[in-house]
Amino acid sequence: MTSPASHPLLIVGSIAFDDLDMPSGQFRDVLGGAATYSSLSASLLARGAGGVRVVGIVGDDFPDEHLGELRSRGVDTEGVERARGRTFRWHGRYSSDLASRTTIDTQLNVFADFSPKIPAAYRSSPFVLLGNIHPRLQVDVLEQVQRPRLVAADTMNFWIEREPASLAEMLRRIDLLVINDEEARQLSGMHNLVKAAADIRKRGPKMLVIKRGEFGALLFDGEGPFFVPAYPLEEVHDPTGAGDSFAGGLMGYLAARGEASPHGLRKALFFAAALGSFCVEGVGPKRLLAIGRADLAARIAAFARLVDYGGDLAVP
Ligand code: AMP
Repeated sequence: MTSPASHPLLIVGSIAFDDLDMPSGQFRDVLGGAATYSSLSASLLARGAGGVRVVGIVGDDFPDEHLGELRSRGVDTEGVERARGRTFRWHGRYSSDLASRTTIDTQLNVFADFSPKIPAAYRSSPFVLLGNIHPRLQVDVLEQVQRPRLVAADTMNFWIEREPASLAEMLRRIDLLVINDEEARQLSGMHNLVKAAADIRKRGPKMLVIKRGEFGALLFDGEGPFFVPAYPLEEVHDPTGAGDSFAGGLMGYLAARGEASPHGLRKALFFAAALGSFCVEGVGPKRLLAIGRADLAARIAAFARLVDYGGDLAVP
């Protein structure tokens, strides 16, 4: 029997069927959603029974085998509600260089009436990752949990444009915001990312991670800026879910270590970037489902070599 995890991570977010138009072909009904990618990624780190707990919603068309795939990675899926109707669906099309994507269609389906209900057993989770859902629902989740040690959240342009008041309330209540550069610029109204970060941190989150895709990610906290590169890959198949895998890796590491210190956060960023890099190597969550801890350890070692400058940077 697996022993219980000491610092469980609660993840709330979308669970989806994705239709992906890639330069390499069309893929239909691919298992997706932010909570799926984040929890698969976190499950490689925050292990033990109940190490990762997911709250989301699926329709009656969602095969139990998909939840079984999460469970087989140790993810607790008790908090996944099954509603009558169809599962959330997203259809995206990528450019030939995979650098940009267009949303062709979003069908909210059962996700339209989603109101996260946090099971009693999850309410004391010390680490919480609020995936990209309506900021009012992100706040609702925080109303249901007991003083977590670290709350991280994601959001997107849709909420920045349409729900500024709810978003402002959410920002006041979280510790760490993980967004991409475009979102940081939109949220702050500033192009310069250092200025944008200072502005966003004044609104609530003391820690901010700005993801820049293949150009790495920047952390802004009380200790000054920190940078982690993206791992240089020869083959990129599908960027879908990379951001969610990144956030899952970040929080999975912190939950596994039971820490939220500036030093811990800097180390966690390498795990975030490593899991983001695995995600893009396969279509949908295929690669994340195939890797194990030895693969993760090997990529972390490769990361350490990537940034190892030899320890001497004195001006000659
Ligand atoms: P990412 O590539 O990290 O932005 O995440 C892509 C995943 O987000 C896909 O698997 C989609 O199912 C999911 N997704 C797309 N649009 C939304 C949305 N409006 N709300 C929640 N999840 C979404």
